[in-house]
Amino acid sequence: MGDGLQFLLYLALIGGLVGLSEALHQKGILTQEANRKLVHVGVGLFVSLALFTLHHGWVLAALAGLFVVVNAVGLVSGALRGMHTVDRETWGTVLYPLAVVINTLLLFDHSRTLLLATLAPMFFGDALASLVGQRWPLRRFASLRKSLAGALAMYLVSLVFFWALIPAGPVAVLLLALIPTLLELSFTGGLDNLAVPLGNLVFLSLVPAKVPLTSFAIALLVAGVVAYLALRARALTPDGALVTLVLGTLILAAGGVQWLVPILVFFITSSALTKIFRAKATVKPGESRDGFQVLANGGLAALFVTLQAFGVGGIDWFVPYLAALAVVNSDTWSTEIGSTSRSDPRSILFFKKVPKGSSGAVSWIGSLGGVLGSLAVALTALFFGYAWNTVLLAWGAGMIGNLVDSLLGATVEVRYRCETCGGVFDVKIHCNRPTLYVGGLRWFGNNWVNFVASSVGALGVVLWLAFR
Ligand SMILES: [Zn+2]
Repeated sequence: MGDGLQFLLYLALIGGLVGLSEALHQKGILTQEANRKLVHVGVGLFVSLALFTLHHGWVLAALAGLFVVVNAVGLVSGALRGMHTVDRETWGTVLYPLAVVINTLLLFDHSRTLLLATLAPMFFGDALASLVGQRWPLRRFASLRKSLAGALAMYLVSLVFFWALIPAGPVAVLLLALIPTLLELSFTGGLDNLAVPLGNLVFLSLVPAKVPLTSFAIALLVAGVVAYLALRARALTPDGALVTLVLGTLILAAGGVQWLVPILVFFITSSALTKIFRAKATVKPGESRDGFQVLANGGLAALFVTLQAFGVGGIDWFVPYLAALAVVNSDTWSTEIGSTSRSDPRSILFFKKVPKGSSGAVSWIGSLGGVLGSLAVALTALFFGYAWNTVLLAWGAGMIGNLVDSLLGATVEVRYRCETCGGVFDVKIHCNRPTLYVGGLRWFGNNWVNFVASSVGALGVVLWLAFR
């Protein structure tokens, strides 16, 4: 059968399943949860079949892309009409087909069995994990909203599919099946629909083809120890520790010690500065990094180490990696060191005095901290045979990114006013009281500011390297 006819057939099958399941839910035969799971697994079966019957990957990508658009439009228009809130759970219906699009475009022509291995844990493990987790949890991880039995179910399903589909030995399969399990535990609601297939895409392509099994095993162990120590020191929340474990394993396995050192400098100095200065400062209560903060600070790092491992674009991705870390380190150092300033800082926009910790606030001592924080990361390049011009490039990019961070904080970042002290912040609680929304984009919080600022710093370096 031609791809055009198959496209229509699969469209009808998936449309029919969604319609039937919704009708059964409306009649009260299926609960909302059962309806969701039936569609999740049923669509997974159709896609698994389509993987092997279609002749061209782009046809499957187009089919899934259609659902990305339809579901996103449905969500946004539904939310605009006040039908339901757009929470993490509901975004899963957009991220599920998006993962199919991304993995299909990158793997279909390379290996369809590998492609199925990256998607199957999300299609079948995810649903089984929540089913088993609700019935017989064994032990609940309250802060993660997951259970031990659910994690075991995810692990076993991943194990079976990896065993059958990927060309790797038993030890590699046993260790690789940990990746979708850890990612499923890290993300609640719909985000695991994207995180699990993307994590599988990266790790199954790397191990053992590009990264030897021993390097992967050692990386897993070292990252595990670091994440555990950070969790015990309360520098990370449980989901933050899980994301750190996966990203840390990737960075160390694919990049080695050279890529580990700069991120450790960021991780150790920023945690230490928070510990040292937070006691005196009254900015925010001592807080641990959660999964989203780790992603905002380390997501680009994971992307760059992956691009480097696959030799994409023919540039040295270590330099933009260094720049991205220089930005986040510069930001942390200026915040923590700036909090020791005796006088109030000024707004970066109009240089009016504002309370400490305000969005977009700058001070002389904080700026000095930012300059030093960027330098501390940039200097690590010298240990690995880079010349001073690389240090200067990363240092400069780090400071520019930090400036972008302050400008975003003063303009588009969500702003809340504290009625007690009169300051404007990016937090919903200040001086132990709820704050009032006064401006900025509601969804654009501190994690987005950090992510965009470090992207700007890194992109500047990529352009510099590409066009110099
Ligand atoms: Zn206040």
